Amino acid sequence: MELRKDPITRSWVVVGQPETDLESSGPCPLCPDSPQWASPLLTLPSQGPPQVRVFPHPHPIYRIEGDPDRTAEGIYDRMAGVGAHEIIIETPDHSRSLTQFSDEDVERVLEAYALRIADLKRDARFKYVAVFKNQGTLAGEEWPHANSQLTATTFVPRRILYELRSSREWYRERDRCVFCDILRQEVRQKSRLVDSVGDYLAFCPYASRVPYETWLIPRIHSHQFETHSPGENRGHLAALLVRTWRRLAQIAPSYHMVVHTAPNTLQSKGELSEYWRTIAGDYHWHIEILPIVETRSKSYSIKEVYFNATLPEQAAERLRQLDPDVK
Ligand SMILES: [Zn+2]
Ligand SMILES: [Zn+2]
Ligand SMILES: [Zn+2]
Repeated sequence: MELRKDPITRSWVVVGQPETDLESSGPCPLCPDSPQWASPLLTLPSQGPPQVRVFPHPHPIYRIEGDPDRTAEGIYDRMAGVGAHEIIIETPDHSRSLTQFSDEDVERVLEAYALRIADLKRDARFKYVAVFKNQGTLAGEEWPHANSQLTATTFVPRRILYELRSSREWYRERDRCVFCDILRQEVRQKSRLVDSVGDYLAFCPYASRVPYETWLIPRIHSHQFETHSPGENRGHLAALLVRTWRRLAQIAPSYHMVVHTAPNTLQSKGELSEYWRTIAGDYHWHIEILPIVETRSKSYSIKEVYFNATLPEQAAERLRQLDPDVK
């Protein structure tokens, strides 16, 4: 597998197929009693029987060994698929669904995200660490056993790059964080708010790309998910996540969930150094949930333009009405 850069959009594309050395049929490899393919990178809690276990992915998209050096191929750029690909197993219980998780369970999962992101960011080769969850069959989940995945890459993913560029520009012009501005307006207008717990807010973004798109964001400005800011209570975020999952389970049970945090600022040179001068002020971490709802595909809803038939205001209203305590 290798990475190729599109010279026009400047996005990196992973080309090739991961090796699949594990049987996809047969017993669930994520269950604690199944033969382990590696030793865990992290288990939580640190004492007693583990709830969360983190392993290297059995058939990774990116591999930890090697040199990410870019090579030219005529006018094109390519590099080896160096990086990390991990799987975060969220519960030992095969049939436990996210909606059955307690706030404490989810807090431990979030803790695992933070610890792994912080650890991988110590490796200066990695410019970005992404944590995501493919929930439900429509989202292409690999195993039904509750899990999240993490990738550390030698480049910043395209969508993050867009966010970084825009937030830097907004900050430069107005001396304010664009996400804090969004938060203020959403709180004032209320129509797109879904829920809030403590200092965390869930809302449907103004230009939602898909029906029921929901973002979770801290009211207190912070550019890094993995760093606890003073006064932050991650238990509140866990509670809000559980309530949001329970709402979505009733209406859009398949979704992608992704944590958007600042890139690795250890790396001080290279194409991105410019972005990092004001990053602590201009970027604001958040979690995006993108439900996958079956729609009759419209011939004009081509990939280049999002076509969302549900108004975010209606989506938020519907989500607000759903019971956040239904397991
Ligand atoms: Zn299992
Ligand atoms: Zn902010
Ligand atoms: Zn984002």
